Amino acid sequence: MDCPRCKSLLIKDTVKDLNTGFEVDTCPSCGGTWFDKNELSQIDKVIEPTFLEIRHIPGKKDQIEPLNCPSCKTSPALHKSEHYRDKKVIIDHCPSCKGIWLDKGELEAIRKENWLITIGKIFNWLIGKE
Ligand SMILES: [Zn+2]
Ligand SMILES: [Zn+2]
Repeated sequence: MDCPRCKSLLIKDTVKDLNTGFEVDTCPSCGGTWFDKNELSQIDKVIEPTFLEIRHIPGKKDQIEPLNCPSCKTSPALHKSEHYRDKKVIIDHCPSCKGIWLDKGELEAIRKENWLITIGKIFNWLIGKE
């Protein structure tokens, strides 16, 4: 898979929480992270929150740049949604495969508030469970 933002090849990485870890695809160049649906569906199992300091979030200009899904063959344009608690964080998500792209800094911003549960909530909202 190629990075939707800078087209570098994404590499497999493992995001660890206190109790668990799961595989994501990260960009070694721009630092973005791709979560696919199967990865996201495991988040329900995670209980312990992780708190990290908020860091740099990409500027609005970068965040509103259109991106295409790195996972789907047809590369549909990713939809953009403001994070429901922090409007500075724009989340790109695929209408087709329900994957989520987070730019560098966005993951860290979300991590600040119990990020796995937050991403799990966003995922549930995307697939219409909430
Ligand atoms: Zn990239
Ligand atoms: Zn997709």
